[in-house]
Amino acid sequence: MENLERFIEYDPAGFTLREAIIEAKRCLHCAKPHCRMGCPIENEIPDFIEAMAHGNLGTASTIIAKRSNLPAVCGRVCPHEKQCEGSCILNKQNKGIKVGKIERFIADMDGELVLTPAVIKEKKSGQIAVIGSGPAGLTVAGDLAKMGFSVTVFDAQQEAGGVLMYGIPEFRLPKQVVRREVKKIENLGVKFRLNTMIGPNLTLDNLFEQGFDAIFIGTGNALAKSLPLPGTKLPGVVQATYFLQMVELANQGSIDPIEVPIHNGDNVVIIGAGNTAIDAARTAVRREAASVTIINRDRESHIAALASEVAMAREEGVKFISLRSPVELIGEYFVTGVLCRVIDDPGETKELMPTDKTTILPANKVIIAIGQRPASRIIGSTKGIEVDKAGYVKTRDIPYGMSMRSGVFSGGDVVNGPATVVKAMKDAKLVAKGIAQYVEAKKLMEKCGLKMTD
Ligand SMILES: Cc1cc2nc3c(=O)[nH]c(=O)nc-3n(C[C@H](O)[C@H](O)[C@H](O)COP(=O)(O)OP(=O)(O)OC[C@H]3O[C@@H](n4cnc5c(N)ncnc54)[C@H](O)[C@@H]3O)c2cc1C
Ligand code: SF4
Repeated sequence: MENLERFIEYDPAGFTLREAIIEAKRCLHCAKPHCRMGCPIENEIPDFIEAMAHGNLGTASTIIAKRSNLPAVCGRVCPHEKQCEGSCILNKQNKGIKVGKIERFIADMDGELVLTPAVIKEKKSGQIAVIGSGPAGLTVAGDLAKMGFSVTVFDAQQEAGGVLMYGIPEFRLPKQVVRREVKKIENLGVKFRLNTMIGPNLTLDNLFEQGFDAIFIGTGNALAKSLPLPGTKLPGVVQATYFLQMVELANQGSIDPIEVPIHNGDNVVIIGAGNTAIDAARTAVRREAASVTIINRDRESHIAALASEVAMAREEGVKFISLRSPVELIGEYFVTGVLCRVIDDPGETKELMPTDKTTILPANKVIIAIGQRPASRIIGSTKGIEVDKAGYVKTRDIPYGMSMRSGVFSGGDVVNGPATVVKAMKDAKLVAKGIAQYVEAKKLMEKCGLKMTD
């Protein structure tokens, strides 16, 4: 009861119970729901909103769980304005339903009060190893466990969640929420082997020898892209993903906060203007940097990050300088600034033109946020898995998600490139079905005394 009272008041950024019900009651429960069409995993949005409108939180949560293993995460970090909320019919009157906040409220209530305890299905024969515990791995693990398979998740990190735990900052996605979602998946019977790197010492072949019938690789884009410019090796230059990870490790008490590369009073310049750059900038502000500036070589109107994220960063004091292309990171013993070429903008319909003019932005810390790519640790330590030129795993359509090596599946960012949480989940849901088909066929053949071949 104590918990329920806390939720009726709930946290300021989320809905209270009263607000959630009032918002849900506004939904028209459309016959052709555009919100659902806008959702990559086709969540039954009108149905869970209707249940919420009647105060049936358990029913609402059960409806969500049919499509999603991570609703409290999606309710917070999905780009709703581009998906369900952006597609809501009521936007025509500027009164779109706040689907994300309703989903978040339902998921948080269920997470805290356990309105829908996990039902562990009767076990099927078939063991699956999942490498990587990001949204893709967690989705595959949750879906296969719900089908009755035995699933073990391996992750190199000390806590599960992938980018949810070590990338997206605490102020946007509290780590208690991620832990709660992981616990729900654990309650389905999924085992977690953390602090366990796959490749080169423990390989896919070793996992098959241990008795796994199929393996899913959901290792994401672990490597930050480097900037091919002079000066990037200077002390004071860091990768955004490394910085964000160090902040989380310091929050967990695993490292001394002094080891986090950005400190009180720093003048920080960030190269890149996607969502990772914005997260790094807003985190640097919270570490009390004296100034935080994002430089972008494109037009202001072409900033890659979500408009809502950019607006919040500006409100917090982050400066944006567009039409500057970095040429060199300068400094003798330590970085002291970024030399930039000024780009001329002759108008929206014309091409941008680099000029001869350069300018220096002073900085004692430079954060690089120009994207990530997959690591080759697993691919390099096993045979038969093909990747494209950029290192992304090649997969087949039948069974969905299987790599060129029989029994090894892959999905999420390591196949499709950097995307979003819900897109990794969408792909992973299809791969989970592909794995189930494969393992069922394999088990049937084993019963008949036959072996699977390529
Ligand atoms: C800073 C940042 C902010 C973002 N913000 C958002 C957002 O607000 N909304 C949104 O929708 N998307 C966001 N994204 C994108 C989103 O997080 C990713 O698209 C998503 O996490 C990809 O999921 P994944 O499961 O494929 O990989 P990841 O989440 O990258 O998970 C991969 C996991 O594999 C593990 N791993 C890797 N190699 C090995 C190995 N050899 N052995 C064992 N384990 C291994 C890693 O430790 C990691 O836990 C953001 C990304 C970043 C970097
Ligand atoms: S489109 Fe909007 S009003 Fe219609 S069902 Fe979806 S959320 Fe409700």
